[in-house]
Amino acid sequence: MPKKLNTYCPFCKKHTAQTVERVKKGRASSLTHISRQKLRANGIGNRGKFSKVPGGDKPTKRLNLRYRCSVCKKAHNRAGFRAGKFDLIEA
Ligand SMILES: [Zn+2]
Repeated sequence: MPKKLNTYCPFCKKHTAQTVERVKKGRASSLTHISRQKLRANGIGNRGKFSKVPGGDKPTKRLNLRYRCSVCKKAHNRAGFRAGKFDLIEA
């Protein structure tokens, strides 16, 4: 994937030259439904669906990219996509 590309900027409302940065997925805030489910999974006895053996990790990770517009200098995120291998190349 090229480091610079022309894509839609929601602030300029048109296609502009933008640079791509890879970002880590943000931490979920505490007391999301996931952390509540982890609390429910503690204890003894049959925990219902929590008694199941957890499945393995998916073979690919979702990429989180940030697109920074060179015109307005604002960045926007886009829903990540999955790829086994990802490189940013100088274009
Ligand atoms: Zn812009």
